[in-house]
Parts: sequence; structure tokens; C-alpha cells
Amino acid sequence: MLARYRILGVIVLLLGLLPLGGRTIASLSQPTAQPLHLVRVQYAAADLPRLAALGLHVLDRQPTALLALASDEQVAQLSAVSLAAEVLDASPDLSLYYLAWSSQPEAAPPPGGLAYTADTWLVRASPDEAEGLVAQGYRLKKLGGAIVLAMPAPPPALPPLRPSTQGVIQEMVDAVSTTLLSDYILHLQDRPDLPVGNGLGTRYTYTTTHNLAANFIRDQFVQAGLQVAFDPFSVNGHDTQNVVATLPSSDASSNRAYIICGHYDSTAARTPGWSWLTGPAPGADDNASGAAAVLEAARVLSQYRFNYTLIFIAFSGEEQGLFGSAHYAQAAKAAGMDIGGVINLDMVGYNIACDKLDVLGNSFSAWLVDEMLANNAQYGIGLTTESVIDASIWYSDHSSFWDQGYSALMVIEDYRLSTSNCYTATIYYHTVNDLYSTLNMNLVTKATRLAVATLAELAQPLVTTPTATPTPTTTVPSSTSTPTPTPTWNVEPGTPTATPTATLTLPTATPTATPTATLQPRLRLMPLFKGYAGGW
Ligand SMILES: [Zn+2]
Repeated sequence: MLARYRILGVIVLLLGLLPLGGRTIASLSQPTAQPLHLVRVQYAAADLPRLAALGLHVLDRQPTALLALASDEQVAQLSAVSLAAEVLDASPDLSLYYLAWSSQPEAAPPPGGLAYTADTWLVRASPDEAEGLVAQGYRLKKLGGAIVLAMPAPPPALPPLRPSTQGVIQEMVDAVSTTLLSDYILHLQDRPDLPVGNGLGTRYTYTTTHNLAANFIRDQFVQAGLQVAFDPFSVNGHDTQNVVATLPSSDASSNRAYIICGHYDSTAARTPGWSWLTGPAPGADDNASGAAAVLEAARVLSQYRFNYTLIFIAFSGEEQGLFGSAHYAQAAKAAGMDIGGVINLDMVGYNIACDKLDVLGNSFSAWLVDEMLANNAQYGIGLTTESVIDASIWYSDHSSFWDQGYSALMVIEDYRLSTSNCYTATIYYHTVNDLYSTLNMNLVTKATRLAVATLAELAQPLVTTPTATPTPTTTVPSSTSTPTPTPTWNVEPGTPTATPTATLTLPTATPTATPTATLQPRLRLMPLFKGYAGGW
């Protein structure tokens, strides 16, 4: 317990360094205690170095405008370099500010909303007012923490596809199970006391059943033999948690991690008269589909070893304004984590028109989008894809990583959620009718396969020799055999490698552990455990 509290102390210390949303402006300011104003600054790319040099607390950045906190002195400095700062709120309460975007182009402006970009509003809203905006179909992003202006340069080059690993990666891709993906989604959308498929569950962030979903996700990660931790934070006074699982690198000299994530909270606020206190929020498409993809990727990839660390995250508080991913990404940046790339899946199940998904990134993440598209072809996944490079699309968890200077992409059935080529807009979005029965499970399967292939390409599976088996008693079956056909769903949590209730420790730039010490990098044959492959 002492060790646990020490870890907690470090985390608290790290978080204490972060300017978080709920804090007052006074506590954010410098020793001179100058009041800080909320300002909007129009800028061009060439202005970024000058902007960065001013040391502003930047809250959000869009392609041609940003929001920041600035003292009178900083406003004057901006003016001196011909960057006019428009003061929007002289003494802002940062606990109240959000970005808002509607998928309906003709949507009424949010009350008191201030036009920030062509399709994004800045709104000042209490938690109840924010809930009202979600009920009107708005997506929200809570502002508060500081974002980075400088991106590491140059962006990483596209890693080459390595012929030596394509066979084993194909095996991972083929191991993705539609049956298990369905099981995860049904479990997440249902009330457990009623027959399967009832669709009456809720994972609304403030509910106790949301926490049961967190436990379910944790248990799946534990069963995969991963290191698991809850990453606690609060949303508008309600305690909640991300669920974070880690497959450590087999190379002790490597700090880099790749992340796959999807939020597991849900809402049905667009249903007339709905209340989170009493109403269901099955969220099968949004976003049990993405959370299920994370679980299935964890199950498959955990059976292999990689040169780089893989991290699997189910985020909470997304529907209230990307709270969980902002919390995680800010702490990761503060801890100096080397995150090579992030794959965020949000709504990958509702496309009755065809098996098409959009893959969306900013220019810093275009290499990752390209990597995904290459893998779709390489591994015969068969998705129709549309790549979108647009830094203004902030309305899911990928943007929390953009804000901290990391490459990240979003996989989504249609980024505008409006009927378009090969997509019929979901009418169930954020309603009680977002149910498993409406999903295209081929689409969910292909999305998961694409994510698995891309993570494996990035993290580089260890290539093997028959003599370097790190678990001496494991028999590696041939690919045509059917090992242990019974799924082990009831394995007790708390296996020696798993710490399901531990507080999250973020890997820092200096590795402190040498996981799987007996493993010889690049000399490893195949998975530690090869059950399920092809049998589902
Ligand atoms: Zn979502």
C-alpha cells in the first residue's frame, strides 16, 4: 500500500503541474498575479514561433485562430507583433468554457455562443446547460488545460512494411473474432439482469452502471494478461475513470508506446424527455463499437510480443467534453511520454450502406492515416476508406492528443455524421435506439482488423526462432489445430502480471522496468498463446 500511495503522490504531483479546467484564473497566473483574459487570436502558420515565444496559456488551436489566456502585458505583446488579441472575457471562469460543433449545418447557434471558426462555437455553459447542448445534437470539448503550440519536427516518416513480419501480422488480423466483438457490445449495451439483447443499460458517465462497465473492461484486459490500471479523474464533480492496459515493450531500451483507444461512456440525450438518472443509454454504435474494438485488439495482440509498448485505453467522460482523453494526454505530456501514434475508434458500427469508414488526421498525423490505408490493402481487410486531413475536426478523443503534440487519428463511420457517399446518416445517434441490432458487424470487424494490423506494424512484432520460447511450458500449436476451444471468460482477475486496481503510472522517458527479461528481441517465435486463432 505504501508503494501505491507513493505512486499516487507522484501522479498528484504531476497533475498538480497541469493547469486544469476547474481551477481559477488566479491560481493559473504568474507570481505577478496579473489577471488573465480569455482572448481569441487570428494567426497564420508563420506566426506560430512568435506566438510560442510569448508563453501564452493556449486553450485551443484551430487552423487560423486560437483561444488563450493572456495578461494585459501579453495582449500588448501580441499587438506589438501585429497579432491582435480580441478579449472575449476579461475574467473568465474556466470551468464553464466549451467548444461546440453540430453535425447539422442548419443547427441554431448555441445560446450565447460565439462564432470561433466556420463550424465551431465557443460557449459558456454550466454542466446542465452543457447537457442541454448535447440534447440538441452538439458535440462538446471542455477547455481548460494548456495545449502545446510547437509540434516536433519533422513529422515521423512512414515506417516501411516489413516482409519478415507480414505473416504473423496477417495471423493477428485473421484472429479478430466477430463473435467476441458482438459479445462485448451486447454486454456493454445491456442491463445484466435482463435477457441478452435488451439494450436497456447505460454507461452515462455519472452512473454506477458506467462503473460496472469499467470493471467489465478491466476484467477483459486482465484476462488478456495485460497490466491494467484505473486512471481516475472527475467530471463536473462526479468521480470516474479511464481504464488503461499496457503490453510492455520487449525491448528495454525502447520508450515508445502506441495507443489504441475508444470511449466507453454513452449518452441518449437526444431522446426527448430523457434523463441520465433514469433513462437507458445503450450506445452500441457510440461507442460500444469502438470500445469493443479496443478489447478485441487487446485480446489478439496480447498473445504476441513487440519491440514497442502497446497501450489500450477505454476513455470516460467523452460525451461531456472529452474529459478522459484530455486528462490522460495532459498527464502523458507532463510525464514526457513518447507516444508514437494514437488510433481512436469512435462509432465504427453503423453503416448499412457499405463497409466504409473515414480515417481522419491532422497534417502531423497524415503519415499515420497513410499507414492505415496501406495496411487495409496489405492485409486484405476490404474496407472502403476515405482519408480526411483536417485539423479542425476536434470532436473526439484524438484531438486531446493533437493538443499535446502527438500524432493521432480517428476512425469513424462518417466524420460529418451526415448522409454522404456510401453512408446513410444514423438516426439513432445519442438516442435510446442506438442498439446492437442496428449495427453492421462486418464493419466493426474490419475496423478492428485494420486497427490490429496498424498497431502491429507500428509496434513491430518480434520475429522468432523456434528455440527462443520464453514460457517453457507453452506448446505452440500449428495454425490449423484448434487449441482449447472453450473460451476462458471466467478466469479470476488478479493473475500475477495484472494489477487491475492500481493507480495509473505513466511510462516516462526513462524506462524503469525490463519486462519479459528473458525474451531476446527479434528472436521470438510467434505468440505466447495462440488460442482462438481462426476458430471464431
Ligand atoms: Zn462517441
